[in-house]
Amino acid sequence: MIKMEQENERKRKKEYKKKEYRKKRIRRKRIRRLLFVGSLLLTALIFYFVGNCFATLNAGTANVQSPERKKDKPAPEQKEEKTKTDEKKTESSGQGQLQEENRQNQLVDEARGIYQNGQALLVLVNKERELFSDYDANLSYICNKRLQASADLKEDLTKMLSGGKKAGYTFWIASAWRSSKRQQKLLEAEVTKNIKKGMSSEAALNKSMETVMPAGHSEHETGLALDILCSDNLKMDETQETAGGNIWLREHCAEYGFVLRYPKEKAEITNIAYEPWHFRYVGRDAAVFMTQNNLTLEEFYDLLEK
Ligand SMILES: [Zn+2]
Repeated sequence: MIKMEQENERKRKKEYKKKEYRKKRIRRKRIRRLLFVGSLLLTALIFYFVGNCFATLNAGTANVQSPERKKDKPAPEQKEEKTKTDEKKTESSGQGQLQEENRQNQLVDEARGIYQNGQALLVLVNKERELFSDYDANLSYICNKRLQASADLKEDLTKMLSGGKKAGYTFWIASAWRSSKRQQKLLEAEVTKNIKKGMSSEAALNKSMETVMPAGHSEHETGLALDILCSDNLKMDETQETAGGNIWLREHCAEYGFVLRYPKEKAEITNIAYEPWHFRYVGRDAAVFMTQNNLTLEEFYDLLEK
């Protein structure tokens, strides 16, 4: 009997243990499920936050760029600065204008002074302006009496030629003073040459007058103009400008009172084609002034009339 009870007791205990064990297993399963669901939720949360962070970062970058995009519409402060800058610009351009006016006035005064002291040397002869009939060229022989020119240029011409010689250059003066008769004959010869080339009389005259002036309109009649060729190139054409002697002349002629009378870039002002060989005596002060200010004789006269 006791044995049976003991046996029953043992069975109950065993049953109890089994039940407890099942309960524990069920609990463990629940815990595992909870952990699984929890980890799922945690992962989802992590993804959510990471996604949000990227979105914020992108938005931040966009904000950094946006002020540049707004450049078209300046902020009020910028507008104020711009107005100040504009005012300064207007002020400085006003000052610039004033400086330019002062510079022009100074030039005019200087030109008038030079003209008053040496107007005989500044006589202007061109296509439009004829040499006055009672003009006295004050002639003197030059180049061993081969040519005549104004006595006023003789001394400076001698100095210029010797300056060139010291620099290693020798020159040939092809033409100096011409009488009006001689000038007219030169023009007629040029017209005949062009007619022979097949031009009409009118076209031939127009073409000839690009390089040869009619009587009364050539600088050579003043005795103040010289056609100076380099001894190593006696062609009276544009090849002169590359000759060393011509380059030296153009650089130094103003020191001796001469100017290159028909520069390449001033053909529209002088109304004469470029002549690298044609030098005009205007006196030292005028030559330096005209060269420093890049003025032709026509432009010098424009200054006098201001
Ligand atoms: Zn000439």
